[in-house]
Amino acid sequence: MAEYKCFNCNRTLKEEQVRKRIRCIYCGGKIIFKTRVVGTKVKAI
Ligand SMILES: [Zn+2]
Repeated sequence: MAEYKCFNCNRTLKEEQVRKRIRCIYCGGKIIFKTRVVGTKVKAI
């Protein structure tokens, strides 16, 4: 699942929270960027 981060308050937002309004629910910031989940899936050989 994708996660977003607020540029202003640096809080993590879930995709659902961003979908309705592209705003940070905590501070109302409009600058939100997508964060890559660290730890990619490893395929079993
Ligand atoms: Zn914020």
